[in-house]
Amino acid sequence: MMTLEQVKGFPVFYETDVLVVGGGPAGTAAGLAASRNGAQTLIVEQFNCLGGVATAGGHGHISRFDENDTGRRIAGGIAHEIGQRIAQNGFGNYDSYGTWFEVEGLKLILERMAEESNVNLLYHTFFCDAVVEHGIVTGAVVQNKNGRRVIRAKRIIDCTGDGDAAFHAGCPNETGRPSDGKCQPVTLMFTMGGVDWKRVEKYREEYRKKYPDDKNPWKLERVYAEAAAKGDMRPFQTGNMGWWWTPTRPDQVGVNFTHIIHIDSTRAEDLTRATIEGRKQAFETIEVYKKYIPGMAHCHMVSTPCTIGVRESRRIMGDYVLTEDDIKNQREFEDGICYSSFFVDIHRIDGPGMDPTTWNPPKGFKYQIPYRSLIPREAENILTAGRCVSCTHIALGSIRVMVPCMGMGEAAGTAAALSLKYNASPRVLDISELKKQLCTQGCILSEEDIVKAEQDRKRRKL
Ligand SMILES: Cc1cc2nc3c(=O)[nH]c(=O)nc-3n(C[C@H](O)[C@H](O)[C@H](O)COP(=O)(O)OP(=O)(O)OC[C@H]3O[C@@H](n4cnc5c(N)ncnc54)[C@H](O)[C@@H]3O)c2cc1C
Repeated sequence: MMTLEQVKGFPVFYETDVLVVGGGPAGTAAGLAASRNGAQTLIVEQFNCLGGVATAGGHGHISRFDENDTGRRIAGGIAHEIGQRIAQNGFGNYDSYGTWFEVEGLKLILERMAEESNVNLLYHTFFCDAVVEHGIVTGAVVQNKNGRRVIRAKRIIDCTGDGDAAFHAGCPNETGRPSDGKCQPVTLMFTMGGVDWKRVEKYREEYRKKYPDDKNPWKLERVYAEAAAKGDMRPFQTGNMGWWWTPTRPDQVGVNFTHIIHIDSTRAEDLTRATIEGRKQAFETIEVYKKYIPGMAHCHMVSTPCTIGVRESRRIMGDYVLTEDDIKNQREFEDGICYSSFFVDIHRIDGPGMDPTTWNPPKGFKYQIPYRSLIPREAENILTAGRCVSCTHIALGSIRVMVPCMGMGEAAGTAAALSLKYNASPRVLDISELKKQLCTQGCILSEEDIVKAEQDRKRRKL
């Protein structure tokens, strides 16, 4: 944390109404929403694209837009707009569950949306510190090729995933599981080519029939057990965590499989070690695929992304801490700003596979995230959105996926702009005004909105 006096030596090179730190799913939605609501907005991003894990992290899949097992859409607004644009531009599929897309295509779409909405972007720029005066956040210290400089902002939205801005502003935070602070493993995604996808799908069907007792046949756990037993791979992972394929790039598959444990993503040393190990695991996996998976005999590495995928780090404590009880009891809130419906997805913290704390919800499952979880304690004029919001370790296992992250981002950006319009701190913003505005933007905040979205889908045969 730095005061204005302490940053006097650094040039102020930018002044803006709203500064969004981090251009991932949450930050992109926050920037778009703030700017569309009339605030001059700047997104600062360390990499060279918007999208975070979805693009820089090489992911290629966003979930989930619907209530568990019913297909009823529970996410609207910017998240829905992005899904539609992916499909309309021929960069992938969009259905009620999620969207599968070409990473490069999504980068282009998000930049187009930013341009259309007059969002200012500054890439290759790293947030280093918060400027705070008497508990009020007034700017950020950033570092880029130009040197170390200051951005003055009336509102800051922390969408760094790791909560960098709120942490440096002195807001309280927690990390990892309560017993020892250890976080979920990290994963270096990779994309491979030379895949005969039809043959792979046929093989998956053959596998399912061969092992009818396997509850998760899509994970192909027996393949990896055999490969490990024969010494063809180290036992770093037990099953597929995701193969992301789109008809627009038919011979390519994005692979979620590498698994590196006990990493603190706020330490560069840990990220370096994890990336090197992740790349080794990725190449090792390709050799296993070539040998064991029909349809992948001729596959090859296309790319590993420029950043490793982080599932968990700092959670910035806010005016409300969303808990696993709230999630499992499908709680709705007076200040609920979006729905989420993902299962509690916790990868095993001390080894390969899934953690026993993973929880699969019933049919019709959904819950809300309250606005208060976006308002950090002990500082004013700062909001959080995305993976770093106020929740427990178990609750994060569900809210961390991209659709709720975009929902939180849209709410935070809209709130930042409204709080400027009404000259009120985001903490005391009139919630009914915020919810009214979010509904105008097509966000889904109630059963009535869900029914309307369902009618619209049927009318337009979507
Ligand atoms: C391996 C893996 C698989 C996943 N699978 C899925 C899936 O299938 N479906 C799904 O919906 N979700 C999935 N998720 C979860 C989801 O991708 C993330 O939780 C989500 O992207 C979080 O969004 P975010 O905007 O909060 O953070 P991020 O996506 O992490 O974006 C944060 C952004 O902030 C930038 N940033 C960070 N610190 C700074 C700084 N100091 N200065 C400047 N910029 C900074 C980063 O470069 C990044 O662009 C997966 C996650 C992982 C790791």
